[in-house]
Amino acid sequence: MTASLLSEDHARALDAADPLPTLRGEFRVPKHGADEQAYFVGNSLGLQPRKARAYVEEVLDKWALEGVEGHFRGHAQWVSYHALVREALARTVGAQPEEVVAMNSLTANLHLMMVSFYRPTAERPAILIEAGAFPSDRYAVESQIRFHGFDPARDLIEVEADEPNGTISMAALERAIAEHGPRLALVLWPGVQYRTGQAFDLAQIARLAHAQGALCGFDLAHAVGNLDLALHDSGADFAVWCHYKYMNAGPGAVAGCFVHARHAHTDRPRFAGWWGHDPETRFRMGPNFAPTPGADGWQLSNPPILAIAPLRASLELFDRAGMAALRAKSLRLTGFLETVIRAHLADTLEIVTPAEPERRGAQLSIRVIGGRERGRALFEYLCTHGVLGDWREPDVIRISPAPLYNTHLDIVRFARAVLAWREGA
Ligand SMILES: *Cc1c(COP(=O)(O)O)cnc(C)c1O
Repeated sequence: MTASLLSEDHARALDAADPLPTLRGEFRVPKHGADEQAYFVGNSLGLQPRKARAYVEEVLDKWALEGVEGHFRGHAQWVSYHALVREALARTVGAQPEEVVAMNSLTANLHLMMVSFYRPTAERPAILIEAGAFPSDRYAVESQIRFHGFDPARDLIEVEADEPNGTISMAALERAIAEHGPRLALVLWPGVQYRTGQAFDLAQIARLAHAQGALCGFDLAHAVGNLDLALHDSGADFAVWCHYKYMNAGPGAVAGCFVHARHAHTDRPRFAGWWGHDPETRFRMGPNFAPTPGADGWQLSNPPILAIAPLRASLELFDRAGMAALRAKSLRLTGFLETVIRAHLADTLEIVTPAEPERRGAQLSIRVIGGRERGRALFEYLCTHGVLGDWREPDVIRISPAPLYNTHLDIVRFARAVLAWREGA
């Protein structure tokens, strides 16, 4: 078994026998010489679905042939274009169709959601996030606290890691929420933490926040298209995510947003725009804002059609595989990567991401033993040998087998490249 773990034939056999056949052929995989790359960076920019080009060209052609009339003509008319992705998006994140919308970018959506769901008072001004949060999230949260006249030094609460590899136990999170409970306006938490790859139990976090009278939002940038989410049942008040990571909708793709059905008719404050206005009366161009019920009511502008088009192609593939089957395959692939590292690379690589499958998604964050210089050397060797991961200072390589297109063979190519480097180093 141990010898065969690194055999390419064995990997090919595992791929051929996998209950969910790979959809790699539906993607454009960048080349390394005559071969395809072993591309493990779907957590950063997912690969291009082959059909994305056809959907983009359809928009370009419609524009060329119909001009302004493209807004109101034919099946993929632009006035309702964002609704073409609604059902599939809802299935992918486990929400009701009215709870999701594709709009704007992630950080913009986070701000829009906080306008409605972060309503600080003197008694309850605080936001709780994880220490070491993605910078954009931290900037957004800090600037919102200041915007309302509060002080981030006091009212931005950051939960420190309490586990040896920099991950956060549910017990530590529970203690922090209980300790600060009466002062908490909002708990904003990642579905999967971008640096460590740790996945969290969203329903439990929402329960803990609500029990203290706080609202709860999730940043699912690294969770959507990765975990088999049940957003509606999680009870979260809102969630935001981007579509260029595991969702494969391309650089600068339109982002996603979830607003729980219980807020569908809310009279909370919001920043409004004409595309959030009830479509029945939008084009009467009246002066008074009447929001569309549900997540659509937070839209500002007419949507970026060219940025939504590739998402249609990607969502078709998620629907074809099914999120539950994809997650099951992801557990097999990431489990295989872990097994290979532990069996053959343990003197070089140390896994930071939790070992329990339910506490991680596709990504393993892997520390290179021996420090930054050694880590950089290995990382660059991998890149020049067609194995793409990404680098996080000071000494971590993130490897994310994406179950739509990565294979056991990719993982064996990664392991063999590390071994070759070690022998040469
Ligand atoms: C990728 C990512 C972002 C990026 O934000 P954009 O607004 O899409 O540029 C923000 N937050 C998290 C947690 C991310 O993983």
